[in-house]
Amino acid sequence: MVLQYSHEPFSNFKLDTNKKEFQESLSYVNTQLGKHYPLIINAERIETEEKTFSMNPANTKEVIGSISLANKELVEHAMQSASNAFESWKKWSLEHRANILFRAAAIMRRRKHEFSSYLVKEAGKPWNEADADTAEAIDFLEYYARQVIQLKDGIPVKSREGEYNQYNYVPLGVGIIISPFNFPLAIMAGTATAAIVTGNTILLKPADATPVIAAKFVEVMEEAGLPQGVLNYVPCRGSEVGDYLVEHPQTRFVTFTGSREVGCRIYEKAAKVQPGQKWLKRVIAEMGGKDTVAVDKDADLDLAASSIVSSAFGFSGQKCSAGSRVVIHQDVYDEVLNKAVALTKALTVGNPEEVSTYMGPVIHKDSYKKIMSFIELGKEEGRLVAGGEGDDSTGYFIQPTIFADVDENARLMQEEIFGPVVAFSKARDFDHMMEIANNTDYGLTGALLTKNREHIERAREEFHVGNLYFNRGCTGAIVGYQPFGGFNMSGTNSKAGGPDYLLLHMQAKTTSETF
Ligand code: NAP
Repeated sequence: MVLQYSHEPFSNFKLDTNKKEFQESLSYVNTQLGKHYPLIINAERIETEEKTFSMNPANTKEVIGSISLANKELVEHAMQSASNAFESWKKWSLEHRANILFRAAAIMRRRKHEFSSYLVKEAGKPWNEADADTAEAIDFLEYYARQVIQLKDGIPVKSREGEYNQYNYVPLGVGIIISPFNFPLAIMAGTATAAIVTGNTILLKPADATPVIAAKFVEVMEEAGLPQGVLNYVPCRGSEVGDYLVEHPQTRFVTFTGSREVGCRIYEKAAKVQPGQKWLKRVIAEMGGKDTVAVDKDADLDLAASSIVSSAFGFSGQKCSAGSRVVIHQDVYDEVLNKAVALTKALTVGNPEEVSTYMGPVIHKDSYKKIMSFIELGKEEGRLVAGGEGDDSTGYFIQPTIFADVDENARLMQEEIFGPVVAFSKARDFDHMMEIANNTDYGLTGALLTKNREHIERAREEFHVGNLYFNRGCTGAIVGYQPFGGFNMSGTNSKAGGPDYLLLHMQAKTTSETF
């Protein structure tokens, strides 16, 4: 039955068969390194003189691939191709569009470990994180394909006697999809296919650090039968061509996922109506986070410590949902801190190609430098109790780092670091805990560990974040189960993988016929 949906299971790498298959996929991907990836505009492969190189962050000498870069003329060509393709694509039935996503999901499922292996190599993801990224991408395709079919007949509205009223959704036009490096498959594929399945055509601009995985995904969409011009793959430098894409008068909407700084810029640029522009652009902007794990005095303290550690250090803390600030009730502060430090010191940091590695590198040199500068700052703002060291001699490795006794207003407690660094703060009581939890500009995710039912209900009301979790960590939202998106400076609260997401890519049309 087409409307049934359950998420893609994660691979269990304790099983020898899965381990062996993954190792074989890694070996295969190792034979594919160094290839060149041209632009794909209107299904045509276009080589450019200007190229960028995607490098392995765990081994900075290893080239994953070289990629042609689009300039303004080429993105203009892509814009015209997408505009032309829109005229026919918008007329496709929703079921036929959904079928392309179902086919693409099936292809990806068959090649799941291959996609995950590219994520290991290009993004430095350990096996389980890569596996979750691929599973999420498949989930997005499956979920949005099912969702769009439910919109087929619009939403029922009332009709008075002698009239027939209908309320239907129609696509918007050409969208610009700008994706981040940290979920280079799931977020890129999810944002691209939500736009496509609702009848829009797109220009896809992947993050500079992770263009190869995006190229592999575009190949899958072509294999699944997507017509030419619907998805145009245009890697380009965000800082150089980004404004042109956003400001283009034919751009109908922009879907951005990335930092607050770039998101705010896009929001502002898109708001200005350009000569020849016939609409107000829509912007979906999902931005950064400064996410809190709060531990109450009667929490399960072992669960609290393991939740803190997995939220802070999964994928080297490079998740918008990463728990980078911890607030603990003073009665249990020392005990939870000690437990978290012990767990952190046992984590393995190293080559993500090894199944035993818990944490791989951070994405690139700029990121490494920024995180290391926060670690220096942390030595002034708090007490270093774990980690604190980095090594960029072969890849960008940083030890999982904990700072204790950090003031709630310190930069470490306020700014997104996007690396394996977590700050601990002490709260006097539950009121103070909620106060500290909400004392940030962001509002993406949060977690509360407590056995106190009244505090759970209070947090449900008072803890102001888009995704709030009880008695678990604050990362790991599942498509269709925990729709994802934050409040405040975390973005436009679009809720990827949720029931309202597709509607953001469409406009509603009312028709009323009188007899
Ligand atoms: P980023 O530096 O903001 O880059 C995101 C994308 O924007 C990249 O494709 C980048 O291209 C592009 N870009 C840069 N400047 C641009 C401009 N002027 N105009 C248009 N596009 C431009 O973010 P990132 O480092 O890749 O990702 C990490 C950030 O994403 C964190 O802040 C994290 O919290 C956030 N994030 C949020 C969510 C969420 O759902 N809320 C999910 C994942 C990540 P280049 O790579 O070519 O510069």
